[in-house]
Amino acid sequence: MTNIIVNMTYLLASVMFMYGLKGLTHPRTAVRGNLISALAMLIAVLVTLLDRRIISYELIIAGVVTGAAIGTILAVRIQMTAMPQLVALFNGFGGIASVFVAGAALIESGVAPSGAPMAQISIATAASGFIGSVTFWGSLVAFAKLQGIVVPGGSVQFPGQKLLNILMTVACVVLSVLIFRNPSDIMLYWALCAVASVLGVTVVIPIGGADMPVVIALLNSYSGLAAASTGFVLSNNVLIIAGSLVGASGLILTRIMCKAMNRSLRNVLFGTLAPAEGSATADEVYAGKVKSAGPEEVAMLFDTSQRVVIVPGYGMAVAQAQHAVKDLATLLEERGQTVEFAIHPVAGRMPGHMNVLLAEASVEYDKLKEMDEINPTMAQVDVALVIGANDVVNPIAKTDPKSAIAGMPIIDVDLARTTVVVKRSLSPGFAGIPNPLFAMDNTLMMFGDGKKAILELIAALKEG
Ligand code: NDP
Repeated sequence: MTNIIVNMTYLLASVMFMYGLKGLTHPRTAVRGNLISALAMLIAVLVTLLDRRIISYELIIAGVVTGAAIGTILAVRIQMTAMPQLVALFNGFGGIASVFVAGAALIESGVAPSGAPMAQISIATAASGFIGSVTFWGSLVAFAKLQGIVVPGGSVQFPGQKLLNILMTVACVVLSVLIFRNPSDIMLYWALCAVASVLGVTVVIPIGGADMPVVIALLNSYSGLAAASTGFVLSNNVLIIAGSLVGASGLILTRIMCKAMNRSLRNVLFGTLAPAEGSATADEVYAGKVKSAGPEEVAMLFDTSQRVVIVPGYGMAVAQAQHAVKDLATLLEERGQTVEFAIHPVAGRMPGHMNVLLAEASVEYDKLKEMDEINPTMAQVDVALVIGANDVVNPIAKTDPKSAIAGMPIIDVDLARTTVVVKRSLSPGFAGIPNPLFAMDNTLMMFGDGKKAILELIAALKEG
């Protein structure tokens, strides 16, 4: 195949990637965007396979079949609530693939030069090994935190951690220079990957509390940068473009997440939060102050309310309560009440988590209000119904500078006339801290599984 046909096809695939990405910016076009991008990837892979000097199609087919089988089983069996962990793993797999492909290319360059300048290959290989290893191990730690294997949301710190990270970063730079000067010594490359792997772990373990969304977006970006570097190793234009697109969109997402948390990226990565010594314990916050209510009492509240705001959180995803929530909203609207949904940018466990769930339940997009839009009007809300949200409605973010979520903007449900919180217990959310909202005078706790509680509430409203 001539170079020009290959590159024109790569260009077509790249345009399709961009078109697909644009589709992902809105729930209505997201599925189509996803399909277009997947088709573009298929085209890119097929053209690469036809173009390159393939030694063994058998090995490639074996890899495709094994990968496709594992991917299909994971996609079919995965619980919707475990999707964020899966995304974290995918980021990591992208990173480790870049490490191995770049390493193999470096080994091969001594045997069969690819035609690309050796300086390009060695610099890009070092970048792939460095970024890819950090991405893989950092993503495994993020996976473990989201899965609750490492203290969920917790921050693991030890003395000298920052200094160790600086020393390891310097070691990686030195090893990269040595690879540039002596690309035939493959042991230098594996040494770089080993140090970067430890760095990946030690950089991500101290990050906890509400900062995890930023880290996941950043790791996503890193996986793209590692792929783009590998594109330079292989002199493959479509890999450079696709990697850069992932890198850039991940960085944009990182910025959006930082803004949502009111934190700078530097602060998230290097300003690890000290354990919240001096902050009130759960007993001090809740003792004797929490009021609980059953579905009938909550139904009576709605009899006298005009404006209702529903605030979903991670617990709605766990309970799979989105369809019941949609039915409740429809019922309230039939009774003449105004119902809106307040969406916090980091509610749930992945960006857009609540939007996806509510779109699945066919909640109209114009009913979903972003935090900045709804907060100025929260004082005019009759009932704020919080379903499985905790950190994103925790007023301690505004009052305790020592808290793990200090400074994070929240949905101001504490300002509503009455707040009803649906959750199973007084357990903390991802950040692991008590929530004074539950003990406020205008808050009623409706304890129970999210879906069951909402179905009971609907039944009580219909009976009343
Ligand atoms: P939280 O994790 O703060 O709280 C979720 C609450 O849901 C828990 O307190 C839990 O209480 C309740 N819950 C769990 N299961 C059920 C159920 N079956 N029925 C009813 N309630 C249930 O969630 P938020 O959405 O408020 O906040 C998200 C947190 O996750 C933030 O700290 C954010 O930084 C972090 N995060 C977000 C990411 C993102 O990209 N969006 C990524 C990684 C982390 P109980 O056990 O008592 O029921």
